[in-house]
Amino acid sequence: MIILQPDLKATLGYLFYNKVFWMLFFVFWSVPTSRPFCKTTCPLGAFYGFFNKLSLIKLDIIQSNCIDCGKCAEVCPMGIQFNKNVGSTECIMCMRCMREACHFGAIQLTLANAPLTANQKLPRTQSAHYDQ
Ligand code: SF4
Ligand code: SF4
Repeated sequence: MIILQPDLKATLGYLFYNKVFWMLFFVFWSVPTSRPFCKTTCPLGAFYGFFNKLSLIKLDIIQSNCIDCGKCAEVCPMGIQFNKNVGSTECIMCMRCMREACHFGAIQLTLANAPLTANQKLPRTQSAHYDQ
């Protein structure tokens, strides 16, 4: 708009340049990092995160199935290793850890603490395949 109407440039002040600076800051920060604004700055995310503990629908850990392989952290857009941060306020419930990473049935979806997903535990002998 400013390029099309150069006269508008005179109306721009500190606030405009401040906003452009922070927008570019987060855009460039998003290149090497996943969701930096959500993780560090977004007040809505922080507010909603408090409800993770109260939600009826949750992801839960089955400790006896978890081999602490860390695969859940590799797919998590928020950088959470699920088995070490169950109920994290940063979790956005995308369920990638359960659907894409955990091959041991250690993560399950629950409704009021009742399991909604089948326990897909694999024999420990198959775990070596996924440890690589
Ligand atoms: S991917 Fe599953 S088995 Fe591996 S650390 Fe995470 S919860 Fe545990
Ligand atoms: S549900 Fe998504 S955001 Fe939450 S721990 Fe799993 S991968 Fe991370």
